[in-house]
Amino acid sequence: MQKLDLPIPETGTLTKVAADLYWARFALPFRLNHINLYMIDTDAGWLLVDAGINQDETAAHWQMLLDGPLSHQAVAGLLITHHHVDHLGYAGALSAKLDIPVYTSASEADFAHWMFTMADDEFADLVADTYVNYGLDEAHITQARADKGRFRRHVKTLPDFTIIEEGHLFPSRHGTWQVRIDRGHSQGQISLVDDARGLLIAVDFLLPRISPNISVDLRDFDDDMLGHYLTYCEAMTSLPDQTQIFPGHDWPFTDGGARAAQLIDHHHQRLDSLLEAAKNRPLTVADGMRHLFGKSFGAHELYFASGEARAHLWHLVQQGAMQCEVRDGTTYFSTRSD
Ligand SMILES: [Zn+2]
Repeated sequence: MQKLDLPIPETGTLTKVAADLYWARFALPFRLNHINLYMIDTDAGWLLVDAGINQDETAAHWQMLLDGPLSHQAVAGLLITHHHVDHLGYAGALSAKLDIPVYTSASEADFAHWMFTMADDEFADLVADTYVNYGLDEAHITQARADKGRFRRHVKTLPDFTIIEEGHLFPSRHGTWQVRIDRGHSQGQISLVDDARGLLIAVDFLLPRISPNISVDLRDFDDDMLGHYLTYCEAMTSLPDQTQIFPGHDWPFTDGGARAAQLIDHHHQRLDSLLEAAKNRPLTVADGMRHLFGKSFGAHELYFASGEARAHLWHLVQQGAMQCEVRDGTTYFSTRSD
C-alpha cells in the first residue's frame, strides 16, 4: 500500500486529485477526527460525494467552499455513499440549501429511514437490549438506555433520496464513474469506479490505515456482515496496483489489492484468536470484545467495538466453527464439540 503524494486539503480549499476529481477534508467530533469528501466535475455541474456530519463547523465549512472554490460552479447533485452520520448528517441541510437531488442506494436509504423514524426511546432500548445480549456491564446498559436520539442528533433532517442502482453511470468531464454497491461496513455502500482511468472512490470500505468497522446489523442480527465484507475484500485483491484509491478517512493510496489482502488476514487473525479463547470457556460478546481489544471504551467506541466482536463471533457460527445459545438473555458462543 502506497500513500499518494498529495497535499491534505486545508479547511475551505480543495485538492485536485484527478482531472475532474477534488478532495475536501471536514472535521468530526470523534477520536477519528476527520472525513474526506469528494467532488466530481461533470458536464451537468459538480457532483458532491457525501455531506459531513450535522454540526455548525460543517455548515461553516460548506459555506467557505461555496463562497470560494465552488463559487462559479453549478452543483448538480449530492451522492450519499452510506447512512453513517459522518457521511449523511448534513445532507438534508445541504440539499435544501442548494436545491439539488440526493442520490443513494436503496438499502442505505431504507436503513437511514429506519434509524431516523424510530422513536428516541425505541432506539435507546434496542441498543440497551443488545448490550444485555452481549453480556456488557450494567453501567453500559444503563448508559445506553439513557442515550436517546443519537442518530438524529447527528442527522438533523433526512433528505428525499433518489435511488440509484449498481452499474449507474455518472459521466464526468474526463471519464465515466460507475456505481458499485457492497455490504459489510454498511448495508449497501456506494463506491464510484472509473476503470479506464484507474480511479476508485472506495469511501469507508477500503481504508489505508484503519480496518473499517464491521458491525452487527441492528435490524437483522442474523446477517453475516463480516462474511459480506470478506467477499468484498476478496474482490478487491485483484485491483490493479496502480489504481488510485480515494478513501473516506486518511489519505489516497495505491496498491489496494495488497491492502485488501492485509484486511482479510487481519480478520482471519481475529477469528482465530476468538476460536482459541473459546476453547477454555464459552464467550459472551463482551468477553470477545475484551479479548480482541483489551481495553475499556467510551460509549461511542463501545458501540462499534462490541458490534465488531459480535460480527466476528457470528461469522464463526455461520462458518460452522462455533455454536451459540442464549441464557438469561445473554448469548454465549462456544467451539463446536462435535
Ligand atoms: Zn462508514
